[in-house]
Amino acid sequence: MADETSPESDARASESFDVQDADAAEIRDTDIQFDCPQCGKSLVIDYRGAGLEIACSQCGASVLVPIPDGMELTDLDLDSGEILKQLFATRRNYQKVELQVKELRTRLAQLQETLGVMQEVVAEGLANT
Ligand SMILES: [Zn+2]
Repeated sequence: MADETSPESDARASESFDVQDADAAEIRDTDIQFDCPQCGKSLVIDYRGAGLEIACSQCGASVLVPIPDGMELTDLDLDSGEILKQLFATRRNYQKVELQVKELRTRLAQLQETLGVMQEVVAEGLANT
């Protein structure tokens, strides 16, 4: 019988998020920027690192990543239902766009056909003068 327990179930280890120099790193909207209380170095870390204890990239001191105002730690663990909802919404939008592209392609083909007819008419008109 298969064992249901997975050794990867606790993948949210602190090693997953690298703290970076705020000066050097590309900072995203979701990143948390803070200063090392030990050496004052500006650090930046992925928002999922909020509340974790990390090592300062400059002095190596243990630093507690601040939790941004208004952020609930439970926000970090979006339940799978919410993630699925977002996925479905994205897929719906994608299908809508695909439909629009198809319609535009059809319209383009019609216009090209019309253009061909008009060019023929113009050519005939020129030939008859
Ligand atoms: Zn430091």
